[in-house]
Amino acid sequence: MECILRKTLVQEFINDDGTAKIIPKWDEEAVRACPICGGFKFLEKTDERGYRTISPCPGTYALQRIDTYNQADVPSRFMNATLENFQIERLRETANVKSFIRNIKSFKKGNSGYLLEGGPGTGKTHLLCAAIRYLTLEIGIPCRYVDYSNLLSDIRAAYSQNVPEASFIEPIARIPVLFMDELGKGRDKKNDFELRIIDEIINRRYSNPDLTTFFASNYLDRDSSGYNKFMNGGEEIIQGKKITLRGYGSSDWDMYVQKRYKKEGFDHPESFKVHADQIMRREHIEDRVSERTFSRIRAMADPIVVNAPDFRRIAGR
Ligand SMILES: [Zn+2]
Repeated sequence: MECILRKTLVQEFINDDGTAKIIPKWDEEAVRACPICGGFKFLEKTDERGYRTISPCPGTYALQRIDTYNQADVPSRFMNATLENFQIERLRETANVKSFIRNIKSFKKGNSGYLLEGGPGTGKTHLLCAAIRYLTLEIGIPCRYVDYSNLLSDIRAAYSQNVPEASFIEPIARIPVLFMDELGKGRDKKNDFELRIIDEIINRRYSNPDLTTFFASNYLDRDSSGYNKFMNGGEEIIQGKKITLRGYGSSDWDMYVQKRYKKEGFDHPESFKVHADQIMRREHIEDRVSERTFSRIRAMADPIVVNAPDFRRIAGR
């Protein structure tokens, strides 16, 4: 059915105290000429039992979608972020981000989410906010953006003011599509209360197959960085025999380095060793949330490294 409102609608994005809002403007005259509702914006129906019901005119769906966007809490500095104006050519590897964009454009309820990993300034928040814009305005799905460290400080504030937990957990636990940015940032590791709340939110979303959660983090997970690979060692042929070498920190490690440095793209075993040392010492997402929370996150969201930083160059310096 032709949507009269949408045909003449102009969306004006504004900064409303740090979050992006849309003020809809449309041609009043065109809306009054709506062939379905005659400008009333609602349709009256009488069902077989004689009950009168009122439902919104399909022409007003665009307004409902704007409402959905306005409730998503997109940070205002990303109000102009779209999937189209994301500068994908800046990335070293584009295939995984292209599949993220395709997945958003064909989104269906209950789809799995993504965990975007990579250093600051690689465009992860742009991608999250562009996805929210697409899902709310083009598909009409309720979404919510939360910044992990802001969420933790809200939790702390609520706790100190004796605000019931449910009042901040519920909306985040139930929103059909949640976008959690800056995962793992700024957590006080000793704070069991915060850990428990985050665990509860993630757990509630994990146990409902209709909900989708997207994450972004400046930390890498241990598979993406190579940590697990180096830790586990691997099989090598040594003097014609297949031998299982233990990994990083074991007495086999030097042999592993000798056998693998070329495959890892290094000219010299020492530079691979320095690279591996850096990887093993750095903090990963697994160090920033509980083990259980991370395994739930991995089950809900496929990891994608956005603009993988070149560790080899850093290691060679
Ligand atoms: Zn109408």
